[in-house]
Amino acid sequence: MKCFTCKDKKPSIKRPKTGKPICLDCFFDCFENEIDYTIRTNNLFKPGEKVCIGASGGKDSTVLAYVLNELNKKYNYGIELFLLSVDEGITGYRDDSLETVKKNQVDYALPLKIVSYKDLYGWTMDEIVKLIGLTNNCTFCGVFRRQALDRGSHLLQADKVVTGHNADDIAETVLMNLLRGDYHRLAKSVDIITGKDGYMPRVKPFKYTYEKEIVMYAYYKKLVYFSTECIYSPNAYRGYVRELIKDIEAQRPSAIIDIIHSAEKFLIDDVTSTAKKQIKSQCVRCKYMSSNKICKACSLLERLGKLKAKKSIQYENEEEKIKEGEKKNVIKIEI
Ligand code: SF4
Ligand code: ZN
Ligand code: ZN
Repeated sequence: MKCFTCKDKKPSIKRPKTGKPICLDCFFDCFENEIDYTIRTNNLFKPGEKVCIGASGGKDSTVLAYVLNELNKKYNYGIELFLLSVDEGITGYRDDSLETVKKNQVDYALPLKIVSYKDLYGWTMDEIVKLIGLTNNCTFCGVFRRQALDRGSHLLQADKVVTGHNADDIAETVLMNLLRGDYHRLAKSVDIITGKDGYMPRVKPFKYTYEKEIVMYAYYKKLVYFSTECIYSPNAYRGYVRELIKDIEAQRPSAIIDIIHSAEKFLIDDVTSTAKKQIKSQCVRCKYMSSNKICKACSLLERLGKLKAKKSIQYENEEEKIKEGEKKNVIKIEI
């Protein structure tokens, strides 16, 4: 059997996106050329731009850093690349994955900046989970991360941030929004560039890249990445949707791209939409852009502060009760 692409070499794998046998050289070429095509047809970068790669140490951002670095040199994009990592303060997860990013920094010779929740907000995720438990932790983490990436890239005077969101992530988001009836988010979920009129534009060069191919590429290129799940990850709803898509993909590999293409053709009726139009101004506390007087991060910080104060009052009361109990016990013994 010959490689379906070059019709010459012996195939080494079955390409997940097409189901066709392919040799490794052709796979690497197809993988990189498709990303280059996505970048060019969507005008994702302009020469001279400073571009931050949101780097978590996971497979997506590691492959993104590697491929962008290669394509930038090969096709002379003329962009300046940086690695930007967010340290959420999750012991045993983020501290380990940041070590991987530091290795990427050396391997790919790219400058690295790390911004931490502790420095930006005064809280680590470990402290937040200790206070609020595992129910809404990802809401806090998501809002804080978005702002942390914006602030970090602003400090680096970047023009945009690229993230490793892949086709599977985007198809999941489309289905999740569809199932929730969230048509305002549905309209935006397939945008390859978001936040153009905001603080910092975000770009997704992996919009049409399959997760399985990212894993294969990392494996055969021997890239070093961190593959452990966050210890606070309870995102059950996304998990169900992910399983559903994986089942459909097993029957029909093109399903992931088909979902994205279908969503690109959705026409969201703005006139009948009840979704609030986002009017951007500045948060009165931190000056981050916000459609309300106080941005989401500041209002979450306020909630954390109140909860902490309430818990410490409860704790003091409990201590008082214990002391009272001890006094009574002492009296009893005296009697
Ligand atoms: Fe943060 Fe939740 Fe992701 Fe963990 S799973 S990094 S807590 S958003
Ligand atoms: Zn080939
Ligand atoms: Zn704020």
